[in-house]
Parts: sequence; structure tokens; C-alpha cells
Amino acid sequence: MGPSDWISTGFALVAMLVSGVTVFYTRVQVRHAEEQVEQARRELNFAVHDSAFNLMLRMDELFLEHPMLRPHFYQDVAPPTPAADPELHHRAFAMAEFCLDVLECVWERQDKYSDVDREAWREWIHDVFAGSPVLRSLYGERQAWFPVLTSLRESRVCTAASGHSFFTDPAAPATPAGSAVPAATAAAEAAAAELAPV
Ligand SMILES: [Zn+2]
Repeated sequence: MGPSDWISTGFALVAMLVSGVTVFYTRVQVRHAEEQVEQARRELNFAVHDSAFNLMLRMDELFLEHPMLRPHFYQDVAPPTPAADPELHHRAFAMAEFCLDVLECVWERQDKYSDVDREAWREWIHDVFAGSPVLRSLYGERQAWFPVLTSLRESRVCTAASGHSFFTDPAAPATPAGSAVPAATAAAEAAAAELAPV
């Protein structure tokens, strides 16, 4: 092997070394970028959960401030008519609208939750619906306002043994038969009648 062969072999070795270092460095950079993406994903998940929990806590606070609303959201009790108790009637419908907005927001982020958390949030939404005739009634009247909840309902996915027929039975009406829930629109008409000049 002549001097020129030694030189070209040396160049080849240096080139291999440089290429090896480049590959190693690139891998380190890729690994670092992957770690950053994973960290950002964890932070996003935390923020998503944090805001979902904050919305749920706000609902809890409102029930603490207005405990008379609880039977209409936890014990499947229909609210009073506007004539019987106008304040509680309108408060129940206002709370139902707030709760539906919260549930819509919570489920809108469902693809950001882990499988375990997604199931927990889904069954919580099912439970809230199961305990509230006023919420089911308002949803039935204003279904177009809540496309995310509607897609959840249409999915029919549920892991509870029973009690969630509103989400599992395609034939389940938004407002159960025989329900004494006065419609929000009727309430609005009644309120308008009260304000109308005599
Ligand atoms: Zn369920």
C-alpha cells in the first residue's frame, strides 16, 4: 500500500468518524426533541384536566350556594312550575344550562384524556344526566346547542351496569314520559305574560 493509499484510507476513516459523530449528535437532538414534546404533552394534559376539574368545582360551589337545587340534579326530582315557585323554577333551568355547558366543555376535550380518565368523565356525565329531569328536558329542547354531548349520546358507549338508559337506549326520549318538567320555553312564555301590560 503506497502513501496515497494510506492518505485515502485516513480520509475514509475520518469521514466515517465524522459521520458516526453526526449520527450520534442527531440522535441526541431527536431524543431531546421527543422529551420536549412529551413534556409539553404532559403539561397540556395537566392543563386540560385542571380546567375540567375547575369547571366541576364551580358546579359544586353553585350547589353549595343554592342547596335547594340539589334534588333537581341529584335525586331526579322535577323542578316546580313557574306558578308554584318562579325563583326556583328559573334558577333550576339556569343551573341546567350552566351544567350542560360544563359537560359539553368537559367532553369536548375527551381525546386529551387517558383511557381511565375518559371513562371516569364519561360516566360522570351520564350520572349528572341520570339525576336531573330539568337537565334532560333542557337538553331535549336545545339539543343543537350541544353537539359534543349529542355525539357522546349517539356513541351509546357506557360501562355502568344500569341507570344510564338516556345514553344507552336509542329509544330513550330526552324527556321521560310522564315527566312533570315544565318546558323552558313555556317558562319563558309565562315570564313574558307576567311582564305583559294588563
Ligand atoms: Zn354510563
